[in-house]
Amino acid sequence: MDEIVIIGGGFAGLSSAVYLSKSNHKVILLESSPKLGGRAYSFPVEKHDDFVDNGQHILMGCYPYTLNYLREIGSLDKLYFQKSLELNLVENGGEQLKLGGNSTLYPFNLMYALFSFPRFDLKDKMALTRFFAKLPFTPEAKLKDLSIEEWLNKTRQTGNARKYFWDLLIVGAFNTTAERASALVFREILIEMFLRGNKASTLIIPQTGLSDLYCEPSEKFLREKGNVVKLNERVTSFEIENGRIAKIITNKNMYSGFNYVISAVPVANYLQIRKNGLDENLLEKFEVSPILSIHLWLNNYEFNEKFYGFTGSFFHWLFVHEKHITLVKSNATELIKLPKEIIRSKVTEELTKYFPDFTGKNVKDILIIKEKRATFVSSLQFERARNSVKAPYKNLVFAGDWTNTKLPSTIESAVKSGKTAADKIEKLIKSE
Ligand SMILES: Cc1cc2nc3c(=O)[nH]c(=O)nc-3n(C[C@H](O)[C@H](O)[C@H](O)COP(=O)(O)OP(=O)(O)OC[C@H]3O[C@@H](n4cnc5c(N)ncnc54)[C@H](O)[C@@H]3O)c2cc1C
Repeated sequence: MDEIVIIGGGFAGLSSAVYLSKSNHKVILLESSPKLGGRAYSFPVEKHDDFVDNGQHILMGCYPYTLNYLREIGSLDKLYFQKSLELNLVENGGEQLKLGGNSTLYPFNLMYALFSFPRFDLKDKMALTRFFAKLPFTPEAKLKDLSIEEWLNKTRQTGNARKYFWDLLIVGAFNTTAERASALVFREILIEMFLRGNKASTLIIPQTGLSDLYCEPSEKFLREKGNVVKLNERVTSFEIENGRIAKIITNKNMYSGFNYVISAVPVANYLQIRKNGLDENLLEKFEVSPILSIHLWLNNYEFNEKFYGFTGSFFHWLFVHEKHITLVKSNATELIKLPKEIIRSKVTEELTKYFPDFTGKNVKDILIIKEKRATFVSSLQFERARNSVKAPYKNLVFAGDWTNTKLPSTIESAVKSGKTAADKIEKLIKSE
């Protein structure tokens, strides 16, 4: 039986471990922190008899790798699936608008959504229709040096199309601005979202905490099959023999006798391992972008929808949970620098603007979580860098949302990389 060491217990490490274990390989997973989940986990808030995620995570119908993985660990029934794409947009002043709705007639679902949206006039609709009609025929080569901003400008997208459609979509998918994100990756996800059937563009929201969704079921799956999951074990160094990793040294132990290694940690963490074999300057090319999540427990206030998108606000999304609500600010570079008290007053001010019957008195408690290194920025530079990284040792395979998946820094990219790494190891074993 081949033994494989997996470094890192986020979506990438856990999914690769589950797939390898399913194929009867013995896995040892080493995670440096006291919990699994990496950048996507939940924790209890005892005073409210509740639990929260470190940040709200949403999946999409076009996340086939993630949905397959969650099926493997028996977690699909912990998700809420939209039947067709529907976004509730809320404007300053409180007016609510629906984008999407009841059309299930693919490929007309997107056209129905855009043509029935009350803020789009003929010019907006024509600009969007022109864009989507040309999308399948836009070659990759034409986009490879363009930012999304440049692409949208070339296709003459209108102010309203930007405000009510493109800007929310871009910040949601890329956690950055259209100026910084790569048009090529955008093409890839637009095709996956809107040209792969009615379900692909729907949103899928976990109905439980992230740890209950995938960390605990994955750990149970692995342990039941006799694998080893070790927490609080930080990999600090490799020992190399004949171009292979022969020993892995952690803060507690030394491992040898394994056949293969998957590194499923972000680039910055990999570069901290001694004898990592990569050029340290690589790090400059992997910029990160923060996300600010604000969980609020309320007195006497009910929302009608499961989630809302804000138009023209510095907040982007509001999610309504059983006992709390979560406000999300993507691309939060400036806001996360502010002290929590100021953020708190901005939250109440903004909620009052968008939900006019909401007042500061409705806020019972607030928890602010700043994730400074939430995602990588899918810039042109990042795309070139991720393509160029090759594993420096014969028995090492990289996984993680930053690897060459053609997707932005998302759960789907992490899980796709985990499955791809597991498949690569299977191939290496067969070719021995
Ligand atoms: C607030 C927030 C909101 C987000 N929202 C969404 C969303 O709505 N939809 C979406 O698709 N994506 C979202 N993302 C992105 C998503 O969470 C990440 O893309 C994904 O979790 C990355 O998984 P990963 O396994 O590649 O990396 P990580 O989750 O970073 O996992 C790496 C693991 O390796 C461990 N590690 C590091 N160094 C070592 C070492 N030396 N030894 C041992 N272990 C080590 C770390 O502790 C960590 O557990 C969001 C991210 C954040 C932070």
